[in-house]
Amino acid sequence: MNSALIQENLASVQQRIETASKDAARERSEIRLLAVSKTRTAEEIIAAYQAGQTAFGENYVAEAVEKIETLSDYPIEWHYIGGIQSNKTRLIAMHFSWVHTIASLKHAKRLNEQRPAEFPPLNLCIQVNISHEQSKGGVMESDVLPLAREIVQLGRVKLRGLMALPAPTGDFEKQRKNFSILRKLREELQSEGIELDTLSMGMSADMEASIAEGATIVRIGTAIFGPRS
Ligand SMILES: *Cc1c(COP(=O)(O)O)cnc(C)c1O
Repeated sequence: MNSALIQENLASVQQRIETASKDAARERSEIRLLAVSKTRTAEEIIAAYQAGQTAFGENYVAEAVEKIETLSDYPIEWHYIGGIQSNKTRLIAMHFSWVHTIASLKHAKRLNEQRPAEFPPLNLCIQVNISHEQSKGGVMESDVLPLAREIVQLGRVKLRGLMALPAPTGDFEKQRKNFSILRKLREELQSEGIELDTLSMGMSADMEASIAEGATIVRIGTAIFGPRS
């Protein structure tokens, strides 16, 4: 997609976030936009960067590392939002600032061990399977607190929050209901003394509902870069 269109799209996504945060009586500054750039070219990422977008999310390690190396002169913050395989954790630990898709202690421990000592701690979110779909990654709600208790013990990673990818629905109230599960889980963890500042939830089609339920990071691909082929 050409630069002008990406920049136009980015402006309308910013406008949607602005409106949704007003409707939810929240500060705009509480919500960060993560531009999801899987399958997009380095040129498309640069177009968004030049319009002020600095955080990008990627799903596939090999594809991401290639773009991260190509764009190493740009002060971009890279977020890993794809499924994790054990044999890829080293590359993830070396190239990303955030990982949104932690679903096992084993992966958190590997990332902790493999995070280079000279880098700041790797920011993590636990992915929660709130729709209980077999096909989706993430842990069940009842497993979140025990996993969080283990992760906060690790020194080279920092537990920032929770992430979800609910089953798609066009119904605003259903979207809200799904996102409210994540909001309540965060409150539960807070009451157990686990400080979390992040709820990573909401995509192109449901960001308004996620913002109404407290999203602090919305992960937006299609609304910025157009449909993926
Ligand atoms: C692809 C993807 C997104 C972006 O989805 P859009 O519908 O294109 O906005 C967000 N989060 C995750 C985990 C994704 O894989």
